[in-house]
Order: sequence, then structure tokens, then C-alpha cells
Amino acid sequence: MSFADSSNYFFEAAANMLELSDETITLLSQPYRELHVQVPIKMDSGKRKVFQGFRVQHSGARGPYKGGIRFHPAVDLDEVRALAQLMTWKTSLVNVPFGGAKGGVNVDTSVLSETELEDLSRTYFENISHILGIQRDIPAPDMGTNEQSMAWMMDAYGAKHGHSPGIVTGKPIALGGSQGRTAATGKGVSIVIDNYFRNNNRSLKGQRVSIQGFGNVGLHTAKSLKALGCKIIAVSDVSATIIDNAGLKIDQLEKHIVSGNLLDSYNGAKQGNRDDALIADCDILIPAAIGGVINDKNWESINASIIVEAANAPISPYADYQLTKNNVAILPDILANAGGVIVSYFEWTQTIQQHWWTIQEVDKELQKMLTDACEACFMIQKEKNITLRQSAYYIGVKKVVEALELRGFI
Ligand code: GLU
Repeated sequence: MSFADSSNYFFEAAANMLELSDETITLLSQPYRELHVQVPIKMDSGKRKVFQGFRVQHSGARGPYKGGIRFHPAVDLDEVRALAQLMTWKTSLVNVPFGGAKGGVNVDTSVLSETELEDLSRTYFENISHILGIQRDIPAPDMGTNEQSMAWMMDAYGAKHGHSPGIVTGKPIALGGSQGRTAATGKGVSIVIDNYFRNNNRSLKGQRVSIQGFGNVGLHTAKSLKALGCKIIAVSDVSATIIDNAGLKIDQLEKHIVSGNLLDSYNGAKQGNRDDALIADCDILIPAAIGGVINDKNWESINASIIVEAANAPISPYADYQLTKNNVAILPDILANAGGVIVSYFEWTQTIQQHWWTIQEVDKELQKMLTDACEACFMIQKEKNITLRQSAYYIGVKKVVEALELRGFI
């Protein structure tokens, strides 16, 4: 099953529940527009190298297209298509006035110099800029990109169109970014988990957490959950898993990774294989890296009773089915990792109004919007006796269809 087929699998289940017409299903199971661009850059060696770039706009029914840009060797049109669709349901579910899009370049950034990376970011953005706009399509960071990438992209766009800080979110604060955007996805993951535990009258204190992927999202998830009383017992990156059943020292780990080190050179805890984080003996498992890591090959080895999708699409439909049958609770990506796009929305409004919020205002609004979305999901889940993913999709898809109907598209 391709990545896009898996995202359609969850969409079609919601479409059946909502009794959508075949035409509506056709419209929403495919993107509105797909752009594939060549991204030629001059390498430090003087040679030219051509990379493949994409921007897919899935649905603009509820507002301008919105979604990150991924720089990763696994990026292809199929993946970007699936991720763009997820953004449509995510923005709808959490009530931000955007549609869904995603972009990406097939590249291994670890072998590029800073100059090559800057050139790649600028050239890619220039090549997709004719379909972007502050009221049309607003990119943001995703895997392999960060606030520096957004700064280069905003600058490249501004050189042609005049100063346009609203063209991206996730940019540095010094260029008009928002307080709290960098930590937003991870903080959001912890807010959703906290809501889930409250809804089940359970305490988060002492819950043992394993996090697969220790980039920006994994790190901030760990910090926020620790602050809520959880014990982070395992974290992993491409090089290793590190494990401490007494609880890892997250501050020490942060220092280790921000200086550019991988976990296999960390001495403060026991080392394991890269994939050990997924099968660790824990209460809450948080995949926070790439898609499809929990699949038909390894779902039986999962020990956690709760899986929280900080990454986009980390669980294949087959594994989702089997784990659900085994009573594993899954907090779905379009809810669990929506904190990022929510604070992107705050950033977009701040940039347009040229009026800046404090971190306290950002945190309070983030907490409120995610709690509202969680409560809506819990309500539909109970009312219809379905999974949290089905309930999140039901709400997300329903609002997009309403917007399409009102506009007269269907
Ligand atoms: N890349 C993030 C996501 O997958 C954020 C997107 C955004 O802020 O537009 O949700």
C-alpha cells in the first residue's frame, strides 16, 4: 500500500460514515493541484546537481493552503500527496482557517554544506513561488527544515515580490516569527496526552514514555511531558536508542543534541539499537520521526498501551487495525501534532496585523484550541463508539465538506 493509499484508507472510512457522494470522495481523495519542480543548484565543487522538489495543494475549501516543507531522502510525490491530505483534516479538526498542503525536496541534507543548503532552499522556493501567496499558500518547517530555512525562503520570495514575512510561518522571531513556534508541536503533543488522561480520570504522574525520534518535536515533547510528571525512559535517533528506566536527564540530552551530536555518542545512559525505542517496555510510545514506522512487520512487538502520533502517519492502516483490536489506544497525528500548525496560525495573524503576542498568550491560546479539539474528538468517539482516529477524521472531513458545499463545489 502506498503512503497516499494509506491516508485515503482513513479518509474513506470517514467518508462512509458521513455518507459522502462518489464525486465528493473523488474530489477529496485527490489533491487540487500538484507541482513537481527541478531544483538545480551549484555544489561547492563547482558541479551542478539537480534535486526533485514538490508542492501539493490538497484542499483550499476552508482557507489558504497550509503545510510544511520536508527535506528528506524519502520524499517523493506520493509521500507529499499523502501529507498534504493530512494537513487538510488537521487544520479543519483544530479549527484554524486554512486548507491543506505539503512540500518537499528529495535530498539528504546531512551531506550538503551550509551554502549548498541555502542555495537549495532559495531555488526550491523560487521555483514553487508562483502558486504561493499570503492568502493562497503559506509553507512552514517540517522534517529537515527549520527557522533558518524559512528565513532563506522568505527572503527569496521577498526579492521578487517585496518584503513578505507572511509568506511562511516558523520563521525566526527576529524576522517576525511567533513566540513559542519552535516548541509548539511538542508542547501540543503533551497537551493532547494530558487531555486524554484527564478524560479517562487517570494521572500522568510516573507514566513511562518512550520517544522514537529526537529532533525538534521529540525534544520538546520530552521536555513538556517531563514537566507534567512523566518519566522519559527511552529516546532514539538514527544512530541509537538510549534507555534509563529511572528516567533520562532531558536537559543533559538537549545540550548533547543541540551541539550537533547523535545519541550514540551520549554517555549518560544505556545504549540500544535504533529501533529499540519502538519496542521499549513503557506505558506511552511516541513515534516522532518519519511515517510508517509501526507496520505489519513490527506491530506485535509493541509493548505500550497508548501510542501518540507526534509524527505524521507513523502507523500503517494494518497495524492500526491490529493494535486497536488489541485495545491499544492511538492518539492520531491530526490531533496529536496539531500544535505546530496552530501556532503557525497565530504567527500568520501576528505577521498580518504586525502585532505581537507574549509567550503566555501563545501558550494559553494553544492550550485552549487543542483542548477544544480533544473534547470534540472524545465526544464523537463516545457517541458513535469509534476510535479516536475515526472520530478525528469524522470531524475534520465533515467541516471541509460543509465548506465545499457552501461554496458550491459539490
Ligand atoms: N509541518 C507541520 C505539520 O505537519 C506544521 C505545518 C504548518 O505549520 O504549516 O503539521
